[in-house]
Amino acid sequence: MKLRPHHLMCTQGYSGKGYNDDFIKNMDYITRALRCDKNILIELVFSTDDICSSCPNMLGANLCNTNNKVKSIDDKMVKYFNLEEKVYNYNEIVNFIKENITEEIMDDICGNCNWYSISSCKKSMCCK
Ligand code: SF4
Repeated sequence: MKLRPHHLMCTQGYSGKGYNDDFIKNMDYITRALRCDKNILIELVFSTDDICSSCPNMLGANLCNTNNKVKSIDDKMVKYFNLEEKVYNYNEIVNFIKENITEEIMDDICGNCNWYSISSCKKSMCCK
């Protein structure tokens, strides 16, 4: 499964809400797979991913209709957590982020996202 950097957090905070039925169905499938299998591997990509592929905002390969915003969020994830384009154990990299994130860092990364106050992102990532 391909995931872009900020979707490491979205897949933890997702609480069943999304852009449309197709997006929600895909997100349900992906988050169930990621959360249920402790050994699941993901390929981190600095581009559109398997969540974007069912999103009405995806305009093409590596192109979201809020590209500047989502690229900025991805860049912050990469810088704060030294992420690379490679294969990771999903649970290990998420746990690493949870161990190193603070509420201030999360506000800096996700503060401009429309879903931040709607979903349970901060509760999922910052409750240690
Ligand atoms: S809004 Fe953009 S970054 Fe987010 S899932 Fe849709 S296409 Fe991907």
